[in-house]
Amino acid sequence: MKFPILSDIASTEVISVNIEDSTSKAIEQMLMHEHRHVVVIGENCNYIISIINILDLKEKKITLETPLSNLKLQEIPSINKNKNVLDAVEYLSDNVEYICVTNDDGSIYGILTHTDITSNIDPETLMENYRLQDFLTLGHKMKWVNKNEKISDLISDMVDSAYDNVIVVDDDLKPIGILTTKDIMMLIKTQTDLNVAVKAHMSMPVDSIHKNASIKEAVNFIKKKHYKRVIVVDDDGKLTGIISQKELISLTYSKWVILMKEYQEELCEINSLLLNQNKEYENMAFTDSLTGLYNRRKFSDLYLSSFLAFKQRHNEMSLIMLDIDHFKKVNDSYGHDVGDEVLVKVAHTLLKSFRNIDIVCRWGGEEFIALLPTASLDNATILAEKIRVHIEELEIDLVGHISASFGVAQVSEDDEMQKVINRADKALHLAKESGRNCVKTQNDI
Ligand code: GH3
Ligand code: MG
Ligand code: MG
Repeated sequence: MKFPILSDIASTEVISVNIEDSTSKAIEQMLMHEHRHVVVIGENCNYIISIINILDLKEKKITLETPLSNLKLQEIPSINKNKNVLDAVEYLSDNVEYICVTNDDGSIYGILTHTDITSNIDPETLMENYRLQDFLTLGHKMKWVNKNEKISDLISDMVDSAYDNVIVVDDDLKPIGILTTKDIMMLIKTQTDLNVAVKAHMSMPVDSIHKNASIKEAVNFIKKKHYKRVIVVDDDGKLTGIISQKELISLTYSKWVILMKEYQEELCEINSLLLNQNKEYENMAFTDSLTGLYNRRKFSDLYLSSFLAFKQRHNEMSLIMLDIDHFKKVNDSYGHDVGDEVLVKVAHTLLKSFRNIDIVCRWGGEEFIALLPTASLDNATILAEKIRVHIEELEIDLVGHISASFGVAQVSEDDEMQKVINRADKALHLAKESGRNCVKTQNDI
């Protein structure tokens, strides 16, 4: 699964100071880089110092020349940059805001925030980890009005901005009611005077949810109450935002969709790799590793299927068997490797000489068989003769010229493979006995 690797998502712009440095050095760095926090590198672990810590020091009247090692700083967890985002999730907790991403030697590679992590994982986890307050910049369709505002003033604004409702707040910004476009329509229909304060016709009370609630809690809340939006309030119950259900879901899922797309691409890659590998294994099982020709097993399979087709079509089918002459001498004189080269050269000559529909196989040692699914005995004999010449004409380094002997047999409709091969083999023996480098057929035996 292609969850992002931490080195891809961590911010590498890390501002750091040493634990032995003074507090004023940390402040200097913060100001210089306009960062809210600085990583403090300790001997065995790392810490973080933020603006809040510094304000706190001021409060406690601690001098800025105090070394950072004297302060009670928050330790930050470290994780190797090659781990993926899921490995980082377990470090997340309410008070862990940052995680140090380290190189293999333990030095700092970058820094990861809570949001970097949660925005790169699945919706379920995202929804549990994101707080509503992370989304308060959303809610562009949010509209709230003071309870004393007039409905008539509100209408044109609602129409212009396509608001479907407004949240009504009292003077200290606490949400107390809601007025929807549907309510306003009813008022128009019943010819109610709209020149009155919103509070006169709003529905109340309104349910709100705390800004620290997770997206998941908010979504469940919306579901249970059949609301289309959540009204978000702070510790004092004051309105801090309005987020629609659609916004909540689409934000979390849009991240998920991106992730899934990447995952799908990776699956496709794995699939094609496996397919190629399977093909390779298949080839290994069916071919001879030295020459690349079919092996006996594959030949037997192909013979059977060709034989079935042959019986249906009632055409002619023949088989050529050949054996290199005095091959033992090649091995003895030049070594086994040179012998192998000769076998490869002969195999290439066979592949070039037969047609695509012919099935060429290394039967064993320096013996080859070819099945010609549409050749009569005569045609096969003519072809065998041509190939005999091709082999004779080969110029092989060190070895010079070689030759081969051929036996040809024709398949009849009641033939078993072994019987045809026996006839071809007998013809081949006859060729050997007749002085080698010649073609004999089943008619000669
Ligand atoms: P003939 O003309 O009667 O066929 O004589 P020959 O020497 O070709 O036949 P023989 O059966 O006496 O010897 C075949 C040799 O082929 C013996 C064996 O070591 C060699 N051989 C079999 N397989 C391989 C192989 O894969 N590589 C090499 N280099 N030699 C092989
Ligand atoms: Mg031989
Ligand atoms: Mg032999």
